[in-house]
Amino acid sequence: MKHEGKRRLRNIIAVTLAATILFAAIATGLIYSLSKTHQKEVEFYLQELAAQNVDKLNQQIDSDLNTLQSISVLIDQNSSSRQVIDSILADSEIKNTFLEIAFVDQNGIGAAGQVNGSTWSDVNLSQRKVIQQVLAGHSVISDVIEAQKSGKNILCYAVPVYDNGQLIGALAASRSTDLLLNVVESRYLAGRIGSALIRADGQLLASSSHGRNGNFFKGTQFDPAALDLLEEKIQSAASHTFSFYYDGMDLWGTITPVGRNDWFLVETVTMETLNGEFYSMLGIILLALVPLMLLSIFMLVYISYNEKKTRTRIDYLAYYDPVTGAYNNNGFAQAFEQCITKDDHYTLALLDLCHFKFINYSFGFQAGDNLLRHVKDVLEAELQPDEVVARSNADQFAVLLHTQDKAEIARRVTHMMERISAYQIVKKEHYPINSYCGIKICQTFSETVDLNLLIDRARMAKTSIQQGYGNRYAFFDDALFEKAHERTVIEQRMDSALKNGEFKVYIQPKYDLKTETVCGGEALVRWQREDGSLVSPGVFIPVFEQNGFITKLDIYMLEQVCSLLHHWKRQFGPEKPLPAISLNQSRILFFQENYLEMVENLLNKYQIGPGQIVMEITEGVEVDEVQRLEDIIQGLHKLGVEVSMDDFGSGYSALNVLRELSIDELKLDRMFLMQTENKEKGRAIMESIIQMAKNLSFRTVCEGVETREQAQTMLDFGCDVAQGFYYAKPMPAQDYAALLSA
Ligand code: C2E
Ligand code: MG
Ligand code: MG
Repeated sequence: MKHEGKRRLRNIIAVTLAATILFAAIATGLIYSLSKTHQKEVEFYLQELAAQNVDKLNQQIDSDLNTLQSISVLIDQNSSSRQVIDSILADSEIKNTFLEIAFVDQNGIGAAGQVNGSTWSDVNLSQRKVIQQVLAGHSVISDVIEAQKSGKNILCYAVPVYDNGQLIGALAASRSTDLLLNVVESRYLAGRIGSALIRADGQLLASSSHGRNGNFFKGTQFDPAALDLLEEKIQSAASHTFSFYYDGMDLWGTITPVGRNDWFLVETVTMETLNGEFYSMLGIILLALVPLMLLSIFMLVYISYNEKKTRTRIDYLAYYDPVTGAYNNNGFAQAFEQCITKDDHYTLALLDLCHFKFINYSFGFQAGDNLLRHVKDVLEAELQPDEVVARSNADQFAVLLHTQDKAEIARRVTHMMERISAYQIVKKEHYPINSYCGIKICQTFSETVDLNLLIDRARMAKTSIQQGYGNRYAFFDDALFEKAHERTVIEQRMDSALKNGEFKVYIQPKYDLKTETVCGGEALVRWQREDGSLVSPGVFIPVFEQNGFITKLDIYMLEQVCSLLHHWKRQFGPEKPLPAISLNQSRILFFQENYLEMVENLLNKYQIGPGQIVMEITEGVEVDEVQRLEDIIQGLHKLGVEVSMDDFGSGYSALNVLRELSIDELKLDRMFLMQTENKEKGRAIMESIIQMAKNLSFRTVCEGVETREQAQTMLDFGCDVAQGFYYAKPMPAQDYAALLSA
């Protein structure tokens, strides 16, 4: 049981661990797949955002160039006078759009210009790359440059100015790159998106994180592989999303070519910003899962605990007897296997209580249970190491003794039975509790010891002493086995024997002790085998009584006797009245529901008159049977059949029972007579029984009269009839008929 508990605990821990690992695996898988999806979403989101912002940036640049171009249209040869240009450039809208604006003539001389409202003129700008390019006839967007005067990062636009198709100069304007970025700065994620305009070499042209200058890659950490990939993408002017580390932060970034110069728009966002929501969502999921898992572990433990409780109960009932707490048959078989593996020096004793049914009936079931517990306590106390006791059924106990010494076994079993006998069912009243015990010493014929075989043999030994007095035991021996074998043969053959008429009616005459003439006969069955040999009823009647076949045989015998009487009546004629024939009736038949009906039918069939048949029932009436028995006796009387109490004195029925039964005859048991020969006491008892029977108006018959002296004694005692070898042995029916006719 202790081991079982440990094993169970180990199982619970293992299952819990497995559940936790499974849970962790599922959670990890879930987190992994969610984070992958999330990463994809982030990439997509950043790329979308970057594409939108690049569009906006380009729109702004295009709109700036368009503005410049529309101004350029207003300028011609004639209007290139400074006042005209000044007035055009002084337009407030233009002033708000550009930081500086200037008209440059075809020599590169700034003819008119304006910075933050203050004007300037005649500045030679011909060396500026932008001016050179625009004067070559191209619209130009410069790289980001540092303004000479303000020191700010600026961007220059320049468009050529034509008059009548002839290049007359260029219009150039500058704009703060930061202002340019204003259009792309995103309000997404509460403004936590950073935007930067960079060149292909990483040089920051403009950045929303103010104050950040220099190179984008400076101070930015990448995985070497990730950096390679990024550079490759930059080279091929492709969009790309990447993660990097900057200033103590994990970031996501996307790089998108702007399509102007070698510019790229970089959108960055901290992982924290993006993942914050994701992780809080994950946290919620996990928080929901953890109690769920705890709940399932709790349920698991609870179910397992409950199941253990139920199983313990089931196990108990499966292996133990609930009344005594001893092993039951299953438990015994298991314990037996364990014992027998060590060595096979064992002996099985099956112990049965005498008249347990009667004890239960008379003293109540509670008293019966108490007695059973007492027996178990006694047997258990008598056990030595490696010995086992079990209650194998109602009042039968099995004891496995670790010895094969016959004397020791006999001594121990006797001692056990004596201790059981000492028990008082009712305090201070000593009702004798006897038990009988069948013993089989374990013999190994094969590698395995067959418990069923042992039980079978021990039971055989026990059954052999079932009828008897006091505490008793018997060892199994081969004679018992022979008997069992005989029994099997009898059972195999009984039906066909009945059909084949192998059961013969023998009749033993009964003699009137006074006149010494035949006054009746007892029909006794003989089994005449095919070879002519006779088997006496002592061999097969007990078997038939146990298997119920006796009812068939008794009815058969009754029919045979009726038929004989019918036949003899005709043979002898009315002037020679036939004495009655007695028939032995088994208890089972007697108590059969349709018994009286069957008897009546046969009597009618063979026209048997009253007083022709006597039914003998054996002594040993159970108290609770008295009334039923009396009813049947009355029924038989109505049919003209007398009833005799057979073998009186051999059983244990109380004398006062006789008073309640209206029997006609009392047959004193043969053993009784045998005992009386030498014992004065026995004779006195016998005499008084005969006297009592006379007082109750019973006819008395003594069985087993073998000598003239016995016949004389019986006559002296006042006995009416004698039956015994002294007068005649049981004889074939025709011999009896011959005797009658003599
Ligand atoms: P039981 O009814 O007490 O029959 C008397 C038995 O005593 C008979 O034994 C008989 O042969 C034997 N006996 C008679 N006189 C003497 C004697 O002087 N000395 C000795 N030693 N024995 C004597 P049996 O025929 O072997 O029958 C034994 C028992 O079998 C009967 O005892 C009866 O209980 C039973 N039995 C016999 N036939 C039937 C039957 O057809 N039906 C039933 N149910 N039982 C039967
Ligand atoms: Mg008899
Ligand atoms: Mg008898």
